[in-house]
Amino acid sequence: PDTVRLLSSSQVITSVVNVVKELLENSLDAEASTVDIKLENYGFDRIEVRDNGRGINTADAPVMAVRHFTSKISGHDDLEHLETYGFRGEALGSICAVAEVAVTTKTEEDDVSTQYMLDSTGQILSKKPSHLGQGTTVSVVKLFKNLPVRRQYYSTTKKCKDELKKVQDLLVAYAIIKPELRLMLVHNKVVVWQKSKVADNRSALLATLGPSAVANLLPCHHQQEQPKIVVEGFFPKPGADYSTTSSSMPEKTFVFVNNRPVQQKEITKLLRQHYTAQYPDDAARNRYPILMLKITVSPSSVDVNVTPDKTQVLLHNKEVVLTAVEALLVSFYGSQHN
Ligand code: ADP
Ligand code: MG
Repeated sequence: PDTVRLLSSSQVITSVVNVVKELLENSLDAEASTVDIKLENYGFDRIEVRDNGRGINTADAPVMAVRHFTSKISGHDDLEHLETYGFRGEALGSICAVAEVAVTTKTEEDDVSTQYMLDSTGQILSKKPSHLGQGTTVSVVKLFKNLPVRRQYYSTTKKCKDELKKVQDLLVAYAIIKPELRLMLVHNKVVVWQKSKVADNRSALLATLGPSAVANLLPCHHQQEQPKIVVEGFFPKPGADYSTTSSSMPEKTFVFVNNRPVQQKEITKLLRQHYTAQYPDDAARNRYPILMLKITVSPSSVDVNVTPDKTQVLLHNKEVVLTAVEALLVSFYGSQHN
């Protein structure tokens, strides 16, 4: 059973960035407004995620890291109204199987916080009072200590640096979709990236990507009923001259479905097609500026349970969604074929 646990956990928890994503999403589900992420040795010695969210109540603590425990949904029906990032109750337990985990937490009702040390099966080994304030801090020490091959994979500095970059990219995506959120990334005690609270998505784009990236972006919005779909975003304004804002221009397409950063090849392709029609020169050089698209659909029409890391989603009415995106692009850029 220990081997089975290890194998299934190591499928859920595949990398440092994956751990950070799960812990950050837990913090967001707990309605935190500040999340600090601290890594030591690129996260392989230690990952610590601290939030000022709701905390974990005393009754839930013994089961929080038990596989398939979740406080977020109680039945299949809840999946139809899913508004949280988490719902499988798999992350914390899986992390316990591949690292040493401690959780310190305090709710509004608690007088002091409690630090729980967890064992590899997610059971509480010991607990003691702690001085931390309201919220939850999860620390993950010696990631993949029992998976030497995976640990070995990250033995070069290049691989480690790539991983740190991926963590930063991940945080940028959440920073854009959660303008009000304060985020900080510390590596070996050095602040490598941070974002303060801002008012809206545009300010968040500016704060995370810089003025040159957002200079030519304009907001766009399209909405339809039955099924209700809202598509909004920021696209490069029609006719802007990009030849002058050349080299430092970041290339990124951010797609969100119900606030979840996702990979949606077809949507990215559609966005790029329209961009290409506008800026054939850029397209020829395979250069694309920042594009941000936020799709909001009924939770019952998305299946986020397709891959363990939830970065792929199935859209129930994919054609309808694509048509709505197309409509947005046409209203913004005009028809592709004129
Ligand atoms: P899921 O997010 O799918 O519910 P997890 O394994 O990620 O599963 O977390 C298990 C449970 O632990 C959550 O349902 C929640 O009750 C609690 N929890 C984990 N992290 C936090 C946090 N940062 N703040 C509050 N509760 C948390
Ligand atoms: Mg979770």
